[in-house]
Amino acid sequence: MPTHLFKHALLPDGWADSVRIVMSGGKIVSVEAGAVRRPDDCAGGYALSGMANVHSHAFQRGMAGLAERRRHGEDSFWSWREIMYWFLDRMTPEDVEAIAAQAFMEMLQGGFTRVGEFHYLHHAPDGTAYDDPAELSSRIASAADTVGIRLTLLPCFYAHGDFGPQPALGGQRRFLHGLDAYASLLDRCAGLVRGLDGAALGIAPHSLRAVTPSELDALVALADGRPIHIHVAEQTREVEGCLGWSGRRPVDWLLDHAPVDHRWCLIHATHMDASEVGRLAAAGATIGLCPVTEASLGDGIFPGTAWRDAGGRIAIGTDCNVAIGVAEELRQLEYAQRLATRRRNVMASGLGASTGETLFAAAAAGGASALDAPAPAIRVGSPADIVALDPDAACLAAGGPATILDGWLFGGDRSAVRDVWVGGRQVVAEGRHCQAAAIRAVYVRCARRLAAL
Ligand code: ZN
Repeated sequence: MPTHLFKHALLPDGWADSVRIVMSGGKIVSVEAGAVRRPDDCAGGYALSGMANVHSHAFQRGMAGLAERRRHGEDSFWSWREIMYWFLDRMTPEDVEAIAAQAFMEMLQGGFTRVGEFHYLHHAPDGTAYDDPAELSSRIASAADTVGIRLTLLPCFYAHGDFGPQPALGGQRRFLHGLDAYASLLDRCAGLVRGLDGAALGIAPHSLRAVTPSELDALVALADGRPIHIHVAEQTREVEGCLGWSGRRPVDWLLDHAPVDHRWCLIHATHMDASEVGRLAAAGATIGLCPVTEASLGDGIFPGTAWRDAGGRIAIGTDCNVAIGVAEELRQLEYAQRLATRRRNVMASGLGASTGETLFAAAAAGGASALDAPAPAIRVGSPADIVALDPDAACLAAGGPATILDGWLFGGDRSAVRDVWVGGRQVVAEGRHCQAAAIRAVYVRCARRLAAL
């Protein structure tokens, strides 16, 4: 049984030196701090538990760089969405799997060991169901299996184009279901998840724009204790639309009409007033922040200090996957708050606290909870999902263990991730996924074919 001797490891009670970790049967079976090196130990770097990526649309990795040219007088989330609809219109099931494999591989290389795939691409380009209505969900499951990332599959229900409800747009025809067809899809997804080690299933009403109140009630009943993820209040236009439709802001409306509790993960929640912040935090819901995407799309800045003061739970997601990494997301989260408040170390938990450690711990705990996964920790009995940083990385050279997370998150990027294990199986070694060349070759062929269409 291989043993790994890490220079430092972040254990539940803090950093420890010279930590021997033994993994077996997918779990951590031994943790020994202050260990003396033995000849059969593999030398490890700085060990952390793996992070959950709570919100991804994997296929959007394939359009990175395709939406950065000004097309309108005022480009926005909505003009970006037109490009996204154009892009997804041509993808085959093989393309979906190839792009998802590339995105999931990059997630592992960036320090994530689980992904919550908010999957809304279900049908053929003309909107008809595939012979297997779960064809594209099974492609996502297959990509996760190939790459070795843990999956929480979040099949998305999408039925309408806007509040009212308005009819769905042409670009949305690959997303649409009635409730009965969605319930069948959910059953099929439960089977897919059963076939993957450590995988989980949740439900995902797309947004209040895409789901009517009665449909939301039916979906909550279908959840049966599973996580419920929903996009909410990402854009000011969505807030205005919700006010026009209901007289209530989106988060308020949701709290008034749905049993929001710790099972719920509200994606973005960028635009909340003080009352919504207090109510949502008290309900125990997690906010799935996607800081790089929110910056990329010009969404706005969520009320971080108010959410922090209310004791709200956070998780992080890579969402549009334009750039993928734990450090990239947590750094952007903090920097947006600094720009908004003209202060530093805004999200640190208190006087003397490390901003990096505060954010990492909060996002790890909130992310695992939102994805129905075990609490992440390097302790005996926990899943052996471990990320080891490179002790030779320049961003980690200054300081000791107390500054490792601040060095990585604020001074580094995913290149500081050296080794990753999921369920005790090493999937990233020396910064590269163990099947990197093959996965990338399939992806590049796919991306070039799509670009040529
Ligand atoms: Zn999203």
